[in-house]
Amino acid sequence: MKQNNSKINPPLWLLAEITYRCPLSCVFCYNPVDYAKQHSELTTSEWIKVLREGRKMGAAQLGLSGGEPLLRNDLEEIVSEAHKLGYYINLITSGIGMTEKRIKALKKAGLDHIQLSFQDSTKEMNDFLSSTKTFDLKKRVANLIKKYDYPMVLNCVLHRLNIDHIEEILKMAESMGAEFVELANTQFYSWGMLNRDQLLPTEKQLKNAEKITHKFRDRLGNKMKLFFIMPDYYSVRPKKCMNGWGNVFVTVQADGTVLPCHVASMLPGIEFESVKNKSLNWIWYESPGFNKFRGDDWMKEPCRSCPEKENDLGGCRCQAFMLTGDANEADPVCDKSPYHHKINEAVIASQKPKNFEKPIVFRTDKDSREIMHKRDKGQLELKTSRLLEKHSKPSKNKSRVGVV
Ligand code: SF4
Ligand code: SF4
Repeated sequence: MKQNNSKINPPLWLLAEITYRCPLSCVFCYNPVDYAKQHSELTTSEWIKVLREGRKMGAAQLGLSGGEPLLRNDLEEIVSEAHKLGYYINLITSGIGMTEKRIKALKKAGLDHIQLSFQDSTKEMNDFLSSTKTFDLKKRVANLIKKYDYPMVLNCVLHRLNIDHIEEILKMAESMGAEFVELANTQFYSWGMLNRDQLLPTEKQLKNAEKITHKFRDRLGNKMKLFFIMPDYYSVRPKKCMNGWGNVFVTVQADGTVLPCHVASMLPGIEFESVKNKSLNWIWYESPGFNKFRGDDWMKEPCRSCPEKENDLGGCRCQAFMLTGDANEADPVCDKSPYHHKINEAVIASQKPKNFEKPIVFRTDKDSREIMHKRDKGQLELKTSRLLEKHSKPSKNKSRVGVV
């Protein structure tokens, strides 16, 4: 069924990735692997124009993320304008750059919510995974969040290297007075995909983590709400990605490029427009990029005639592309997909002990530029993690510790 424009819902969620600069180098970073090609960021007035347009179209939730959004000196101005427009504003941050002066100014400007990320419950692993010495600083930021009367919302991305610390992570969250804790297993896109062999947990690890999460849930009830998000690789049905392509979410990248999800720029042959050249309204309703996977006209078999297609809309287009080379395929997480074996193979491959010896790729500007360069010359295949072996080498100034 082709979707006609009168049936397209307005966006409700606007994610503004206001900068790709970041002092951290997380191994699972969701920023595009080629983020370093973006040399410019929208100015304050350009962001304000985006916010006005988004609100006029119906968006009510605003996520301010990056990179590290606190690196923008105009963050308070952006928040203030968003507040006047009536958005509910969520700052998604590593905490680096948060001071008492800034949190006070952000509160005054109307910031509603802060989501603070941790990499682990131990200083050693937190600092290794982010390639920085930031563990103590994050604890100080957590105290500030409490002091300024924000709900304490902690986020920890789980993977094979930290999932066995889940009990300590949850105890740490409890001791900090967290009201919401999101334990999101790494989804294998972008930098996470490059490191998939080292980051995919075993089934045993996952089951144990779920068990411990349930134990905490039972004990703490509503005092600390826990969200445990499974990795797709252990499912047989995909998620309804972004609740549908161009249906609820709109992402604006640091340079103004507008995407239906934050990693969609990886898809070949789709030109995503920028707010510098077109209105947000036109991009959402009219642009070929946003209409590409609306409705179900694009679907191939087995999705096309599948009785379950309304449940998941064929899953994630980016995952389909990464694992099959064709964005129109069913998401291979689905066991009806002819490519489902690729998921099983990845799970088996990731369990090999030799993976522990492979170097991990940290998200750095230098690595991003090198990957782009090699990819443009056809020397890399981004959809496989084989490039790890060819590409990764330790960068200078990065802390490296044993992690098994
Ligand atoms: S995931 Fe880590 S490296 Fe990536 S933007 Fe967030 S804090 Fe920075
Ligand atoms: S075949 Fe396609 S539509 Fe059916 S369940 Fe699998 S991914 Fe979903």
